[in-house]
Amino acid sequence: MVDLKSQYLKIKDEIDSALLNCVESTQYIKGPDVKQFEENLAKYLDVNHVISCGNGTDALQIAFMALNLQPGDEVIVPAFTYVATAEAIALLKLTPVMVDVEPHTFNIDVNAVKKAITPKTKAIVPVHLYGQTANMEPIIQLAEKHGLYIIEDNAQALGAETIFSDGIVKKTGTIGHIGCNSFFPTKNLGTFGDGGALTTNDEKLAERCRIISTHGQKQKYYHETIGCNSRLDTIHAAVLNVKLKYLDDYISARQKAAECYYKNLNELDLLTLPQKATYANHSFNQFTLTVKNGKRDALQEHLKQNSIPSIIYYPLPLYKQPAFQQYSPEGFKLQNTEILCNSVLSIPMHTELTEDIQNKVIQTIKYFKNKNSTNHF
Ligand SMILES: *Cc1c(COP(=O)(O)O)cnc(C)c1O
Repeated sequence: MVDLKSQYLKIKDEIDSALLNCVESTQYIKGPDVKQFEENLAKYLDVNHVISCGNGTDALQIAFMALNLQPGDEVIVPAFTYVATAEAIALLKLTPVMVDVEPHTFNIDVNAVKKAITPKTKAIVPVHLYGQTANMEPIIQLAEKHGLYIIEDNAQALGAETIFSDGIVKKTGTIGHIGCNSFFPTKNLGTFGDGGALTTNDEKLAERCRIISTHGQKQKYYHETIGCNSRLDTIHAAVLNVKLKYLDDYISARQKAAECYYKNLNELDLLTLPQKATYANHSFNQFTLTVKNGKRDALQEHLKQNSIPSIIYYPLPLYKQPAFQQYSPEGFKLQNTEILCNSVLSIPMHTELTEDIQNKVIQTIKYFKNKNSTNHF
């Protein structure tokens, strides 16, 4: 699904020297690269504060800890997302309230959010799934009207943008109260292991996030609040400082690959291609097809037979995960989420896709379509 090796080889000298510098400096924890990366990312995103941490899941946890919510407070999340979005919420004894997504952008459905708001609701978590911003403008309006926090799950969309109706463009992750980012190797900006960061324009929240991420301490060995130990290792910051310079190129490469898929797959009625929203600059962390007529698994098998990788993100709605049973009454079902779990298929999408590889993917899909055309697609 990805080609991290080729990506590395293109910037090998820079990366190797950054790594070696870090090794020789011996400042493995909170070395100078960490502060430098936080500054660089803040500048890239045009956001006031960046607090690095251990991974994207920790970023979500730290964000919710920073809000000081009470057990039983409700947080609205899409049911069609990676488990991490809701995990921290449950861990902190808050109640994840799962709502449906839109069928073609895959992102949280604003009307469903509206209907889910109760007096106990404290926050909304738009997930910018597959690299495309959720529809933030009406979400902000709802949040303002009801006094809710917005925590953006930006793990898949770092570098993507939201275009507001007045023409203002903002990077995702800088729009709500806190943005949560991941530097897992396959994300838009990936390191050689785990890494994460919180982003915010709110100085008080920034300070709370920073304190919580370092054992609740402001001053060493004086602990103001219960926190956790979640740091971005210097060695990852060193890698990320190099790779951040290429993030826009990486996103352009993804967008170019997406254009090729749009051009060549758009006439196959077996497939629905991902919808690009008018309010979004899509970063295409994934290119996710919806396969009609119950043919998803057959198409995946056909791709596999031809050595083409594909992945189902995600096969189960959150409410069907055994871990989240207690948050969904018996028989709870969300229509679009159900359909998507049974029909989505993400095909190869990364920064190193060549025309040859893409052509093979496209031809293989077309061949499947022809093979199946007697069955009226
Ligand atoms: C990857 C991901 C996370 C978690 O990030 P990690 O760095 O792997 O902990 C959270 N939410 C979404 C939507 C993700 O894709």
